[in-house]
Amino acid sequence: MEKKGRKPHVLIVPNTGQGHITPMVQFGKRLVTKGIKVTLVTSVYLSKSMHVDPESSIAIETISDGFDEIGPQKAGVDSKVYFPSFRINGSRTLAELIEKLANNGQPATAIVYDGLLSWALDVAKQYGLLKVAFFTQSCAVNSINYHVNRKLLPLPITGSHVSLPELPPLLPTETSLFLLVYGKTSPPHLQELVSNQFSNMDEADWVLFNTFYKLEEKIVDWMAKLWKVVTVGPTLPSMYLDKRIEDDKDYGIKLFKPKTSDCLNWLNDKPIGSVVYVSFGSVAKLSQEQTEELAWALKGMNCYFLWVVRDSLETKLPNKFIEETSDKGLIVSWCPQLAVLAHESIGCFVTHCGFNSVLEALSLGVPMVAMPQWIDQPTNAKFVEDVWGTGIRVLPDEKDLVERQVLQKAIKDIMEGEKGKVIKKNAMKWKELAKEAIDEGGSSDNNINEFVAALFGSS
Ligand code: UDP
Repeated sequence: MEKKGRKPHVLIVPNTGQGHITPMVQFGKRLVTKGIKVTLVTSVYLSKSMHVDPESSIAIETISDGFDEIGPQKAGVDSKVYFPSFRINGSRTLAELIEKLANNGQPATAIVYDGLLSWALDVAKQYGLLKVAFFTQSCAVNSINYHVNRKLLPLPITGSHVSLPELPPLLPTETSLFLLVYGKTSPPHLQELVSNQFSNMDEADWVLFNTFYKLEEKIVDWMAKLWKVVTVGPTLPSMYLDKRIEDDKDYGIKLFKPKTSDCLNWLNDKPIGSVVYVSFGSVAKLSQEQTEELAWALKGMNCYFLWVVRDSLETKLPNKFIEETSDKGLIVSWCPQLAVLAHESIGCFVTHCGFNSVLEALSLGVPMVAMPQWIDQPTNAKFVEDVWGTGIRVLPDEKDLVERQVLQKAIKDIMEGEKGKVIKKNAMKWKELAKEAIDEGGSSDNNINEFVAALFGSS
């Protein structure tokens, strides 16, 4: 197959889920501005429900996860069935797609695959393409997962602390291995999925992280001894950071429709720093009891709140809560989170600490109340509080409940207290450093340019 001299063509293959698609697509947008053709490869089912910006510079192609017609949720399958199905069907259909594109005169140069879909590396290898892993979680979290994969951190964790190179000592509950419910061990198949990301990693040509160098300096340097590791984040739209890409104002591909004007009109007449923004991302589900406890915490406080309660979870709110708090609160099923975090009325962000939300808050200088739920979130929350100094963690009691007083104290400490002043100062520092990283000549910008040069060298 004659490849030399063509415009490089990158296939981006994220795991399904907003928090995986967004950063990889945003990275793709940066590549497009540097002369690369980018195609997003997603599941057939998901492609039917995605809201795509009509101006999008990224093409879309589909592969099968085995649930093309009704999707995994309606099919009632859990991750134990889903991920093996995606591996088998995805490998086959990704290979077919690579062949189709080559026959249509648009041969792929590289596969940039989500770490969780490590089978995509094997497909890329089969066709002689550049094999590029992309991680949507932090370097710290991936170091933990790597150590498990190489049996350098045996499970179950028995000691009181986990000590790994270039990471602060972590309590077992602060490692990403305690999935599903905060503080409880995950089922083996999920641990396996997370750790298997590293099984074939030694064959990757590049390992990209949606983080930035100064945020995780020591651990990035440590990982760079293992593989060709580079940081390419934060992947927020350019207009929130370096402003070099004028039409990059928003995440171009969304799985949920935000209530943009409802949120922004409501925020517009609120005083500066007076609103608590609350969101637990696209996946986490608070229990009935925790939802009620959070509701009472917000109702009992002397500040405004904007709370994202996804449609399926609204029934967990206390009876008449929306009517009774309408003078101070707005509840929406999905919001334009970047525009909300960038709004001057926001005083703090009560977050589950999904890594995208954390990066967004860091990049926009918003202090956090960190209320982690599962997967990597407890580790992220530890870093938010103890390493980056941009938030306060709220931890559950022995019944797994973060009590209303604990929540209220953390919010008050940030909005009004002396501690809040220090946290806000740190938040502004990270905001500057995030922008610097992706701006011209910054660490992430340089890394992206190096990657682009390698793509041109391979096409
Ligand atoms: N998000 C949004 N509107 C909302 C809630 C979340 O646009 O109402 C976006 C948020 O900006 C982030 C993503 O959804 O980019 C959530 O990713 P994260 O990694 O924080 O959490 P996950 O959903 O993967 O648990």
